[in-house]
Amino acid sequence: MKLDVDALRYLSKDDFRVLTAVEMGMRNHEIVPAELVDRIAGLKHGGTYKVLKNLLKHKLVHHDSSKCEYTRNDGFRLTYLGYDFLAIKALVNRGVVAAVGRQIGVGKESDIFEVAAEDGTIMVMKLHRLGRVSFRAVKSKRDYLKHRSSYNWLYLSRLAALKEYAFMKALGEHGFPVPDAVDCNRHCVVMSLVQGYPLVQVKQLQNPDEVLETIVGLVVRLAEHGLIHCDFNEFNIMIDDNEQVTMIDFPQMVSVSHRNAKMYFDRDVECIFKFFSKRSVAKYAKLYDETEADVEEIERPSFSSIAKTTGFLDKELSASGFTRKDQDDIEKKLEDAAAASCNVSIQNEDEILQSGEKLVYMFQENSDEADDGDAELMKRLNKQRRRAIAASQGTRKALSRNFYKDKGGKSAHNSKIQRQSCNW
Ligand code: ADP
Ligand code: MG
Repeated sequence: MKLDVDALRYLSKDDFRVLTAVEMGMRNHEIVPAELVDRIAGLKHGGTYKVLKNLLKHKLVHHDSSKCEYTRNDGFRLTYLGYDFLAIKALVNRGVVAAVGRQIGVGKESDIFEVAAEDGTIMVMKLHRLGRVSFRAVKSKRDYLKHRSSYNWLYLSRLAALKEYAFMKALGEHGFPVPDAVDCNRHCVVMSLVQGYPLVQVKQLQNPDEVLETIVGLVVRLAEHGLIHCDFNEFNIMIDDNEQVTMIDFPQMVSVSHRNAKMYFDRDVECIFKFFSKRSVAKYAKLYDETEADVEEIERPSFSSIAKTTGFLDKELSASGFTRKDQDDIEKKLEDAAAASCNVSIQNEDEILQSGEKLVYMFQENSDEADDGDAELMKRLNKQRRRAIAASQGTRKALSRNFYKDKGGKSAHNSKIQRQSCNW
């Protein structure tokens, strides 16, 4: 997906206000009726509708004209791009990110960008895009789509990001070689840039034995800390010029007390051994030559013989706001999604790497909005959202003192809105 950050710089305060209102509406609605967006945003003189048009033009929201099951009404939902913009804006306001650069990676369900801090430090921003693969794979299966709405994918992507951030932070604090977890907002994680390449791209290793031993040692140490990576392979292990190892990609980690823990552990170990044995005997044999890793000499660790400590990282994880309920939620839903997905090729990486060569600095024109301003806006909009919901449930007669005045009395139009809102 192309992330046109230029557009982000020219969005106005009202644009963000309405975009945030759509996001808030999505807490209770898959498709948010325009009237509800308007009530939450609270812009004067029908301003919301004009803004919605602009957001549609920039593909930040999607207009769903199929009648929603509950509201019998059409409405709007956030696109991933809209969600990206909200996350990036929040990170800019917090002073974490000042500029967004080129895309440096694409995972099955993520896009990775270079970003810069105010002092010029280059970092990495990972935007989680759950549902991208499985969504495409099952496009034809209507049943599946019906139950897995876009709302759920945004929610799951947020959980995946929070989980990744929490694990990265906790693992870093326990001395594991992982990127530094810098910050997290919505479905976006900011981390330090690893100076290296994924193992899969490394054609030659000086000390393959040592690297293999380090990697296997990491799987064992993780298990001792009560964790299994679950996607430990040549794509998620980075190697630098000194053959130092960094592991990445943590949203699928599980506890050693998971019912399939042994299977996941064995699979992680097997992936690594398979990769090294393939590399040393097959087409890279010449490159490795005398230094080829003697895979058979290194013993495969057995899950049952590791002294495991469960709950070791619980405190650190919950400190980042990642709860046990989040963990259960994401595990269950990801399993469902994995069961429904199949191998689908991802975007052509070359194509992506050509986009956006330089850093684009954000919000030079409207940098007056500080983090506090953002929090304040969220608070105000939340209040309006609660009022709108209360009004729709009949617990409040009017949304504001000026409700009737704004709408020109209790007109037919008004009662239509009231009727509709009862269905929300
Ligand atoms: P996914 O969960 O979609 O597999 P990953 O976290 O594995 O995403 O990242 C995809 C790719 O992006 C990696 O293979 C790597 O090339 C690059 N990447 C991710 N994180 C970093 C980082 N901190 N530093 C440098 N490159 C990274
Ligand atoms: Mg990965």
